[in-house]
Amino acid sequence: MGLRFFNTLTRSVQEFAPLNPSGKTAGLYCCGPTVHDVAHIGNFRTFVFADLVRRYLQFKGYAVTHVMNITDVEDKIIKRVRESGIPLREYTGKYETAFLEDLQTLGCLRPHQMPRATEHIGEIISLIERLIARGIAYQATDGSVYFSIEKYRGSGRQYGQLVKLNFDELRPGERVSNDEYAKESLADFALWKARVPEDGAVYWPSPWGEGRPGWHIECSAMSMKILGPNFDIHLGGEDLIFPHHEDEIAQSEGAGLQPQGERFVKYWLHGAHLMVEGKKMSKSLGNFFTLRDLLGKGFTGREIRYRLLTAHYRETFNFTLEELTAARTSLARLDECLAKLRELAGNTNAPADPSFADHFSAALDEDLNVSAAWRVVFDWVRDTNRLLTDNQFSSAQAAAALAAWQRIDAVFGIGEKADAEAPREIVGLLEQREAARKAKDFKRADAIREELKLNGWVIEDTPKGARLKRR
Ligand SMILES: [Zn+2]
Repeated sequence: MGLRFFNTLTRSVQEFAPLNPSGKTAGLYCCGPTVHDVAHIGNFRTFVFADLVRRYLQFKGYAVTHVMNITDVEDKIIKRVRESGIPLREYTGKYETAFLEDLQTLGCLRPHQMPRATEHIGEIISLIERLIARGIAYQATDGSVYFSIEKYRGSGRQYGQLVKLNFDELRPGERVSNDEYAKESLADFALWKARVPEDGAVYWPSPWGEGRPGWHIECSAMSMKILGPNFDIHLGGEDLIFPHHEDEIAQSEGAGLQPQGERFVKYWLHGAHLMVEGKKMSKSLGNFFTLRDLLGKGFTGREIRYRLLTAHYRETFNFTLEELTAARTSLARLDECLAKLRELAGNTNAPADPSFADHFSAALDEDLNVSAAWRVVFDWVRDTNRLLTDNQFSSAQAAAALAAWQRIDAVFGIGEKADAEAPREIVGLLEQREAARKAKDFKRADAIREELKLNGWVIEDTPKGARLKRR
């Protein structure tokens, strides 16, 4: 059966049919982080969603090219660079590194390509030149280059493909220079912003004088460079629908690089907002969490990933610490079952039992219905536990069940509670203890065991060697 999801462009649930005639490849672009600060848990909801889409497409057999840009120049970044006095690259580099660490903590696969805006100034300039040549963009008296909505619409194209817009208020030539603005301030938007003193050292030469790109043109230039002028899936948080994604469409289709009759993007997928403790996340309400804040409260990346993956992407999601604690209990049930299967399977290998993956896939095919997919997983845990209790599993059956779980986990990316989850220094201690035991220095081995215990970890000696478990 085919995968169906909600396309914001057509406002309907549609079956996924890739553009490539082979039907086997999928190009996926997700708007990446603006590296002006540490990303918060709401941002990560989108990135975990993108990771799910990418992994599920791979599960379905598509060769996916997953692109996520790094926005390393825009209004907010320039403001922070000015305030901090730190050079642009140094400033953004720090937050880019933090972001990639967080992505890994959350078990997200690295996108295949992560282009930085500042490394694509040439492509951005070419795209703007093309828009000017086609009469859709113009340089204004302030030196900046703007996109003319009137000219674009006059060329027979539609502005307002993802959202309904009220053009009665539109006064031709009225301009907005900020990267972010509301629907009410519908106006020509900036493609290239002429250098102003507040930009400091952040500027590049261009045919229109020194300046820097607007935020929206960055994504058009980078996505089309890597995935081609028209590609399969563009994904992002719903807050990006207007103006960012609408402007991306206008710029990309305005440049007219797509084959006749083709859109810039075939499917637009948007993840809904995340609330925390029932309210919009805000620093003043004390419910603003970065991933690091949550790790500091003792939660693991795995628990947070699981929790983020339990809500349907189109539902406003209420993230609470209570539910995060409940996630720990659910994962413990799963871990216990997997550990028992592993013990029984031993070194036996067996092909995956297909029915588990079939049920799981039937659930996700329906607009990525994660709730139904998790139900399949926990029904499987219940049934497996029953068979294990009744001693009705052979080691080959246990191995087949584990292989089936691994297929599911290639999508959910939850993994197993194992050594890998312990911090590096803890794993290091375990290795030292193993070395002490080998050297028959049991006193030292016991001392390390105690030290691990103080740090919240216990050692389980299994036939396959020592394993770490949280106390
Ligand atoms: Zn973007």
